[in-house]
Amino acid sequence: MGLSRVHIALGGNLGDVKQTFIQVRSELNALAEVKLLKSSKLYQTPPVGPAGQPDYLNAVIEIETSTKPDTLLTLLHRIEDAHGRTRAARWAARTLDLDILTYGDIQIDSEALTIPHLMIGERMFVLCPLCDVDPNWQHPLLKVTATQMRNQLIAKGVPLLPEGERW
Ligand code: ATP
Ligand code: CA
Ligand code: CA
Repeated sequence: MGLSRVHIALGGNLGDVKQTFIQVRSELNALAEVKLLKSSKLYQTPPVGPAGQPDYLNAVIEIETSTKPDTLLTLLHRIEDAHGRTRAARWAARTLDLDILTYGDIQIDSEALTIPHLMIGERMFVLCPLCDVDPNWQHPLLKVTATQMRNQLIAKGVPLLPEGERW
């Protein structure tokens, strides 16, 4: 079975999010079909979407897995549910959001799954932690690296995130 390198974005702004992330990281690594390779720093970021929400924590982990993309998405949804994720309005406050950012060199554009994640290039809260774990990752379609994408956002006037913490 082939192994792929995958980046997963973690987000959340309800409950003890840092503790949730620590648990999720070890739950994933405990699976036979997943090996944790790297963790980004943990960033505190202002909310996007409906106003009046608490700040978010965001991070990215890099894993190696034999699990196919759609099966991985189902697995991540199950982990979100187990950590109290409810699905209200789009971008509403949540305990845990797990998005597949990248999956090897694969490109997918189906109703359920877009890989690389559509919003990678727009989100400093994704690009900063992605640059922590793999600054030279290259978008398979756009052929730009994570570092270049982050620099493009900076050039558009989006501020860098304050320094993250280890977790
Ligand atoms: P955003 O996609 O803007 O980050 P969100 O994460 O808040 O928004 P969700 O409500 O968590 O959105 O997910 C909505 C749907 O997005 C999921 O049910 C899933 O089918 C789909 N989706 C598409 N591509 C991906 C991906 N790469 N990773 C995770 N979910 C994805
Ligand atoms: Ca998301
Ligand atoms: Ca999501």
